[in-house]
Amino acid sequence: MAPPRTPSSDAAHQKLAEYRKKRDFQVTPEPAGGAPSQTGYSFVVQKHHASHLHYDFRLELDGVLLSWAVPKGVSVRANEKRFAARTEDHPLDYGDFEGIIPKGEYGGGTVMLWDHGTWEPFAGDGDPRETLKKGKLVFDLHGEKLKGRFHMVRTKTVSGKEQWLIFKGKDADARDEDITLQDRSVTTGRSLDEIAAGRDRIWHSNKEGPSITELVKQIPTQVKLTNLDKVMYPENGLTKAALIAYAATLADRLLVHVADRPMALLRCPDGREKCFFQKHGTVPLPKQVHQGEDWVSVADAEGLIALAQSGVLELHTWGCHRQKIEQPDQLVIDFDPDTALEWRAVVQAAVELRERLTALKLESFVKTTGGKGLHVVVPFAPSPKLQWDAFKAFARGLAEAVEADDPTRYTTNIRKNARGGKIFVDYLRNGRGATAVAAYSTRAREGATVSCPVTWEELPRVKPSDFTVLTVPSRKGDPWEGWAEALKQKLPKKPS
Ligand code: ATP
Ligand code: MN
Repeated sequence: MAPPRTPSSDAAHQKLAEYRKKRDFQVTPEPAGGAPSQTGYSFVVQKHHASHLHYDFRLELDGVLLSWAVPKGVSVRANEKRFAARTEDHPLDYGDFEGIIPKGEYGGGTVMLWDHGTWEPFAGDGDPRETLKKGKLVFDLHGEKLKGRFHMVRTKTVSGKEQWLIFKGKDADARDEDITLQDRSVTTGRSLDEIAAGRDRIWHSNKEGPSITELVKQIPTQVKLTNLDKVMYPENGLTKAALIAYAATLADRLLVHVADRPMALLRCPDGREKCFFQKHGTVPLPKQVHQGEDWVSVADAEGLIALAQSGVLELHTWGCHRQKIEQPDQLVIDFDPDTALEWRAVVQAAVELRERLTALKLESFVKTTGGKGLHVVVPFAPSPKLQWDAFKAFARGLAEAVEADDPTRYTTNIRKNARGGKIFVDYLRNGRGATAVAAYSTRAREGATVSCPVTWEELPRVKPSDFTVLTVPSRKGDPWEGWAEALKQKLPKKPS
């Protein structure tokens, strides 16, 4: 059929007048306008939990979304009729909105993108604008959930409100199935509850004020940014744009701990649920990333942005810098609690190690891993006299001293079944080529947690899930005050 007419923006504007009247765009994270679509006839079904649960069925035509509220949802059973109340035309931009509309506002509640795709008017009926006026619309849907021929007929108009019926035609796509049982978002896979619990108003909606995507596009960078709306964390809708924003915002704090350190990367191009470790250029990396033999490194914010752009969700650093690769300069002890253990047992372990290190005149720092455990980090001055073998022996001696203190609580045996109710004191992070996740690195774990530095003072009051991509950027002050000074400290000959 003929391509859709190019709408006059005036006409579209007029059609939207009613919709605009009802919304306060100052406080609603929704689009206030509608740029004409490039692709023509889109359709969308939004599941909308407002004062009552219903589905908004919308067809793009002439620069707006024709809209109906379908209380029970569209059926895919042939001839099963569903009531559809015509509602205001909506702006095209609204068609990819998923998120939260604040209570008390028009349409206040939770909106899920239940289905989307394209629609095609039945050519045999002629111009859909004419049949629409006469109260009839026949079309094919090409969606993820709704497919094939559908019919809409107007039954009556009560005080200006049009009442319609929508039903599936008899064709190969008709099925004896309750399609509304498929009740997750077509774009993010989330349920309504998960969307409601998410932080969409602030982060996910790519239509809020200047959206995170638009803000990220304004970052002055040489890096070519693509796929910004890709959802990296399906449980909360965090996109690649949000990860790039995190990298740019946290760059100064991250670089203290990653700049010029050999790294392994956890890459997750399709989101956090499917990742792989990368140690060198087997998979192409942007030019801002330096490639070593079996490691990569970055030197600046551009490098960090390039990594986020490449879908890297975790930075794992060696305990040295690339300029002095045979000379370790930081020690990491990783406390891995048996699943049965309480968090405060891990906190206690870190505090006890700190006391031991203080006795050795070593300043130490603690961070969450973004997972179950804690890392205690000791920076020190590299020296040609302390290379990897001797250094690892020192770390091992330290861990064994912790174990010897209380073998009922600690083990240095990596075997899982040696752990039974204990904390594994992992010193193996301190070998040449071994890594630990970097301070301020994001994790590819549920909730977008971050490996976050904390003060010893606040440690007993925090839990790992407190620190995420959303919360860490607004933390005030430097929990690792004294870090720069501690870079000068010297490891003693022996760990006890
Ligand atoms: P958690 O607190 O959940 O244990 P973690 O980061 O300490 O988080 P571990 O499984 O204990 O995770 O691993 C410790 C470190 O070992 C990691 O931070 C990472 O740097 C490194 N590591 C683990 N698995 C791999 C791997 N497959 N490839 C490269 N490095 C790894
Ligand atoms: Mn660990």
